[in-house]
Amino acid sequence: MAVSAPPLPNFAAAPVTVRDQFGRQLRYLRVSVTDLCNLSCQYCNPAKGCPQTHPHKLSWDDLYFVADVAVRDLGVEAIRVTGGEPTVRPGLTEWIASISTLPGLRDIAMTTNGILLGKLAQPLREAGLRRVNVSLDSFDEEKFRTLTRGGSLARCMEGIDRACDLFDRVKINCVLLRDVNSGEIEQFIRFSDERGIEVRFIELMPIFDQKEFFHRHFMSVDEVKSLMAARGMHLEADTAHGYGPATSFRVAGSRARVGFISQMSDTKCLTCNKLRTTSDGSLKACLLSPQEIDLSPLIAARDRDAFASALRGSFLQRAERYDLQQILSQPVPRAMQAIGG
Ligand code: SAM
Repeated sequence: MAVSAPPLPNFAAAPVTVRDQFGRQLRYLRVSVTDLCNLSCQYCNPAKGCPQTHPHKLSWDDLYFVADVAVRDLGVEAIRVTGGEPTVRPGLTEWIASISTLPGLRDIAMTTNGILLGKLAQPLREAGLRRVNVSLDSFDEEKFRTLTRGGSLARCMEGIDRACDLFDRVKINCVLLRDVNSGEIEQFIRFSDERGIEVRFIELMPIFDQKEFFHRHFMSVDEVKSLMAARGMHLEADTAHGYGPATSFRVAGSRARVGFISQMSDTKCLTCNKLRTTSDGSLKACLLSPQEIDLSPLIAARDRDAFASALRGSFLQRAERYDLQQILSQPVPRAMQAIGG
């Protein structure tokens, strides 16, 4: 009688996880691939322009190494590609195709201003990009041009149209700016309803030397919620959760969906699952903290263990939550364009 062999023990590698003392698990990496941008948004860049570090200090091979270690050695499941403007760097499509095969990586998304999406959406989709967030802060052509210091609203809209045709999910990122786009909230919600895409209202952050701009234009998400309530718009909690910090809602009786990113008025530190790397190879464990670690020598040396250990250590050492008062008194030393949002 044939005796069946006992089942083989499962030698598949146990999934790697990095979890801190507060129960937060590292799942998400924002990778900035360039600090160059084809726009120069007032809230993202200092008025005198963004001092570029070195546009492409990290090669695509370096950036592959960053993604590879994060995914395979530390269990990162989702990568968001950002910049500067990621689409301005030649080679983006090929790099996305290369990381899309990393075992364990479940999601690749990108944050973009949409200007080049009309042309690039198709190859990016074919490379493995599934989701995009497009920044759009005004439907008024003149305001858009002023805010972006020269950008074309029509090009951005063309990019959004193409993205809606091709990607699984498209979201609009709108930074709330009192007296700039605060009168357009309803229009954003109508846009969300018409297109069936989520609009995320983001609280302005005081990055780099923009304290004055921040104090002049900051508007909290609570004000948006009050405005919506006053107009009879009822928010229903949305159960679909992404990897990011937004709290999402459906607007009852419509297709509109809104997300709120309220890092200034209601921090999301307790559920923060991510790290950021800049295009010159620095690591930021918290967007609003001035602290960063230059990991470019470890990346250049392909020192896998040391690089993984630096990422792990930074994640594990994060405070339970950031101190907003301290952050307001000590501005982040880089423009948002050079961090990646
Ligand atoms: N160029 C791309 C874009 O326009 O989306 C990606 C880079 S941009 C730095 C990433 C995100 O950061 C954008 O959604 C932008 O609106 C947001 N952002 C930039 N400066 C900000 C600030 N001071 N406060 C809040 N969000 C900001």
